[in-house]
Amino acid sequence: MNELDHDKLLESIARLTEKRNRLSLEICLTQTMFDLLEIEGIALYRFDGEQANLLVRIDRESCWILDGEIDDMEAAVPVIHDTGLRACSHGREMVIESVAEGRRYTFPIPRQDQLIGFLRLVSTRDLRDDRRLIEGFLQIYWNYLKLIEDNERDKLTGLLNRKTFDDKLMDILQASRRAALARANAAARGEQKPASERRESDDGQYYWLAVLDIDHFKRINDTYGHLYGDEVLILMANLLRRSFRRSDHLFRYGGEEFVVVFRTRALEDAEIVLERCRQNIEHYPFPQVGQVTASIGYTQILNSEMTTVVIARADKSLYYAKGNGRNQSQCYETLIAEGTMAKSEGRFGDVELF
Ligand code: GH3
Ligand code: MG
Ligand code: MG
Repeated sequence: MNELDHDKLLESIARLTEKRNRLSLEICLTQTMFDLLEIEGIALYRFDGEQANLLVRIDRESCWILDGEIDDMEAAVPVIHDTGLRACSHGREMVIESVAEGRRYTFPIPRQDQLIGFLRLVSTRDLRDDRRLIEGFLQIYWNYLKLIEDNERDKLTGLLNRKTFDDKLMDILQASRRAALARANAAARGEQKPASERRESDDGQYYWLAVLDIDHFKRINDTYGHLYGDEVLILMANLLRRSFRRSDHLFRYGGEEFVVVFRTRALEDAEIVLERCRQNIEHYPFPQVGQVTASIGYTQILNSEMTTVVIARADKSLYYAKGNGRNQSQCYETLIAEGTMAKSEGRFGDVELF
């Protein structure tokens, strides 16, 4: 930035703190700094201890935004293979390198003792005078990120809370719709066969929503007390984290009710994943309490559904599992196909609207 434009700067900060979720904050931060600094390119990475995972990248020609639903190998850079990232992660200081387009600046994004990410800028201009400005923005970013994260997590288990559920599910569905649209466009260009009624989303992946409810949880509270009940909830959340991939979404949806939104490559895999999860719970020795079981109802998420509609289907199969002995997982589509359960009249979710 040649001359500090205070109005522009204040506007940028105001815009940044308007954001209510992580990705929109990250997009805004990257875009703001790209505009303010008038540079050639910028990229924001999250660091997981080994890899720098690209979140947003902007240059003069294009803008790339992480799509959590698509595995993009190029978006994950092993830090030891990149000189700038490696030096930055060791020294925890800005690193400057010469590259074809000019100079490349890599900034660490620290939070307490941890390194949570990197910001990388490419510029033909010397950016050393802008260092304090850049670091100031990064500080606002991670302060604000903490606020957003605290707000979307359940205090007891650390899982996502119910408040964020609708937004997150909508994000996932939107990403899957974008992927479907990309496929349709590719088909229109003759690169692929058209598919009007796809049940799977992006590259042949299937999306699922499962509701898991602890069996006879009231008894646990009544017998051992609330503190033990809480302990079971914490351990249950840990078991769920271990049963699913990091890219899956885990929510504490109610008191002793959890929701998982996950993807599989094959249609049959949901049953395998959920059964394994249920068995992990069944075989886990909960301190003092001993065996705890859970019932699961799950359903496939289609491309253009409302969240209430999906939840209602999963709930219906959970209800079936509860009524048929508990400690089991039931798939809505299977129950309907086998004629075990009647399909609901009308549209699900209508009831919740009134
Ligand atoms: P079912 O097998 O039919 O699901 O029976 P249940 O006893 O699990 O279900 P019910 O809905 O009757 O009871 C749920 C209990 O969960 C009642 C409530 O006191 C307890 N609960 C809800 N939130 C919390 C919490 O945060 N901590 C503890 N310890 N208990 C909670
Ligand atoms: Mg229960
Ligand atoms: Mg319940």
